[in-house]
Amino acid sequence: MSTPRFKLSDPVDFLIIGAGAAGGVVVKELSRSGFNVVVLEQGPYLRETDYSHDEIRYTFQPGLTNDPKIQPITYRKTAADPAKPLKAIEYGRQVGGGSVHFTANYWRFHESDFHERSLYGDIPGTGFADWPITYADLEPYYTEAEYDLGISGLAGANPFEAPRSKPYPLPPMPVKSSGVLFERATKKLGLHPYPAPVAILSQPYRGRGACMHCGFWESFGCEMLAKVQHARQRDSSRRENRPLRNPVRLLRQKDRDRCARPRHRRHLLRAKPPRSISARQSNRLVRQRR
Ligand SMILES: Cc1cc2nc3c(=O)[nH]c(=O)nc-3n(C[C@H](O)[C@H](O)[C@H](O)COP(=O)(O)OP(=O)(O)OC[C@H]3O[C@@H](n4cnc5c(N)ncnc54)[C@H](O)[C@@H]3O)c2cc1C
Repeated sequence: MSTPRFKLSDPVDFLIIGAGAAGGVVVKELSRSGFNVVVLEQGPYLRETDYSHDEIRYTFQPGLTNDPKIQPITYRKTAADPAKPLKAIEYGRQVGGGSVHFTANYWRFHESDFHERSLYGDIPGTGFADWPITYADLEPYYTEAEYDLGISGLAGANPFEAPRSKPYPLPPMPVKSSGVLFERATKKLGLHPYPAPVAILSQPYRGRGACMHCGFWESFGCEMLAKVQHARQRDSSRRENRPLRNPVRLLRQKDRDRCARPRHRRHLLRAKPPRSISARQSNRLVRQRR
């Protein structure tokens, strides 16, 4: 389906910055609910033919990720510390974000993950807290996401898995020779090996081709589109993925006045105080549009 090209003067309901795994899911839900959405992404929109099996480019050079020399990620423990570049952290820099080059393991949380604070108690110096929702609240959404994205897995094979309302939409990926050895050895030890759920198609699904087992998985884009790429799921007539040459910088007015880098001005957005709405209000908004 073709996507619209909104004019700069067109009003839209939502502007999302970053078409990664999270942005991709949010934009799909909003556009499917009838909202007009523009996504600004600093990286390119890559097609299947843009990917290759170039190990140097994708594992040693920033072929699909941020270049730490140009876009370093900084880190600090407290607000008082100076922010220092941390070279080890990389992220996918294109429409699809990390979901283009990630390993695509696709796990659900355990039931206990949602109330670990109650289970294990306080950890001094942390904000360790229970989630305000339970696994049961989230289960229908896990199922919806698994069917939307096409997750391959074997329901019931993991004896410790939380309850699920439906099996995986696709059978698991075949176990390879090293996996067979691992399975035998771990079974002998009394453990419970099973095929991991992955966001990779074991069979053709909803117009996407199945995995051809090329072995180029983590760090690579998938030319079969068998690996999920969040922001590319189901293009809609109400959303536009707009790749940019430069990252968007959200500045306050006083920073904006001080900004002396004209090449970035084109993508400066004035930061207004966010209009915060509660989860209940946002659910109501989405329902109104359906
Ligand atoms: C090598 C690797 C393997 C991984 N394997 C797995 C796995 O097997 N299973 C799993 O669940 N997770 C895995 N992950 C983690 C997973 O990829 C991330 O948790 C996920 O992509 C995060 O989603 P996000 O939307 O928060 O950010 P991202 O997916 O990183 O998306 C952020 C997007 O925003 C864009 N952006 C950022 N700043 C700006 C700006 N200023 N202006 C415009 N655009 C901007 C970026 O270019 C990017 O496209 C892996 C990660 C890596 C690096």
